[in-house]
Amino acid sequence: MNESQENRTTCCIVGGGPAGVFMGYLLARAGVAVTVLEKHADFFRDFRGDTIHPSTLQLLDELGLLDEVLEVADFRAERLHVNVQGKRFVGPDFSHLPGKCKFIAIAPQWDFLNMLSEQGKRYPTFDLRMSTMGTDVIREDDRVVGVRCRSGDEEYEIRADLVVAADGRTSTVRGVTHHRIDEEGIPIDVLWFRLDRPDDDEGDSLAWLRDGHMLVTIPRRDHYQTARIIQKGAFDAIKAEGLVHFKETIASVCPPLKEVSQGLASWDEVKLLTVQINRLRKWHEPGLLFIGDAAHAMSPVGGVGINLAIQDAVAAANLLAEPLRAGALTESHLAAVQQRREPAARKTQRLQSTIHHQLFGKGRAAGEPLSLSWYLRVFVWAFSPLLRRVAGRLIGLGFQPEHIETPELAAKQ
Ligand SMILES: Cc1cc2nc3c(=O)[nH]c(=O)nc-3n(C[C@H](O)[C@H](O)[C@H](O)COP(=O)(O)OP(=O)(O)OC[C@H]3O[C@@H](n4cnc5c(N)ncnc54)[C@H](O)[C@@H]3O)c2cc1C
Repeated sequence: MNESQENRTTCCIVGGGPAGVFMGYLLARAGVAVTVLEKHADFFRDFRGDTIHPSTLQLLDELGLLDEVLEVADFRAERLHVNVQGKRFVGPDFSHLPGKCKFIAIAPQWDFLNMLSEQGKRYPTFDLRMSTMGTDVIREDDRVVGVRCRSGDEEYEIRADLVVAADGRTSTVRGVTHHRIDEEGIPIDVLWFRLDRPDDDEGDSLAWLRDGHMLVTIPRRDHYQTARIIQKGAFDAIKAEGLVHFKETIASVCPPLKEVSQGLASWDEVKLLTVQINRLRKWHEPGLLFIGDAAHAMSPVGGVGINLAIQDAVAAANLLAEPLRAGALTESHLAAVQQRREPAARKTQRLQSTIHHQLFGKGRAAGEPLSLSWYLRVFVWAFSPLLRRVAGRLIGLGFQPEHIETPELAAKQ
């Protein structure tokens, strides 16, 4: 391949997260030349979420990749449990969902993305460039016609019929193209930290609530990715109480973690992640489309962000592969992607917002514990079989589950 061929592609995707890699894989599989740019050298990121929902598993099954993903999954469950004031209840139930995959899986996101990109590389038109950052778009005659990028000391341009911004909630492409975004005020932040996994633990209680505190424990093979949900702005007050007090709170909310919480040696191991909900008004302009968190940042509530990002990628590939292959892409094709996916993103965000404000309320002081009424509501939810199934459906499938419609036209290498 000479240099001019290398820097000309049909679709250039900025961002190698779940949305970008999935869309790149599908387009390459459908015979479209695609270049995916990822600014990091690898996919190893601890705080990106690891849930693979039934609707994503269904898509992977449609692609013949279900066994590959289950091989890298650390954990799977037909129903999740919540622990309220020391009592364990059944929470979201996936066992009644239609389709083959009636369970949720948890797989390290880097393993999932490695698996997907390895599969993508089997198609000759899949070009994944790691350590390559999209820095700007190239415009000609009011149309985006490519991306400027940087890899180490080298800066160069990639020309493309379509640029897809899948570069996440802090999207560079959104910044340089000045697209308008609507932000929602969110009353929570999340503290993330790793704890060893106790030996005798089943790992299917995901949420723990006690005395106004909430923990989420995401099971990995040998450790827990643990989240403590706090009022926005409360981290300094929590730090002021000291690390010993922090560990005591963990042990009282989630007694199985009492021993392993002693492993937390300093605040450096506790990362503050700011929760955001926002969405773009317009997901496209001529030659440019936004998908995933770049179009609509999701809160971690329900752990649905990865699923939505992948559903965007599938819908975009379904709607765009043919016009891209035919060289006949127009902005109305891009508008169709927004029309298809925006309602699901909006409804999910509305639900997340309602949960935030119901549970964590507006106008509460930083550091104030969660309210008891929240516990009562969880009680009702945990006890009702119908609500368990509704929660399983909303979390597991979402509002607009997609299916693979793109054909496999490229021959695997
Ligand atoms: C605290 C927290 C916990 C969460 N937990 C979960 C969970 O358990 N389950 C779940 O489903 N969702 C969870 N989410 C949401 C989830 O992480 C996102 O919704 C999802 O990752 C969005 O996927 P994406 O591909 O659109 O963007 P991202 O996953 O953000 O991927 C964007 C990619 O683009 C790359 N990139 C960025 N800028 C550039 C550039 N200029 N050039 C090249 N590459 C670039 C980034 O390195 C990254 O790899 C959580 C979110 C938060 C904040």
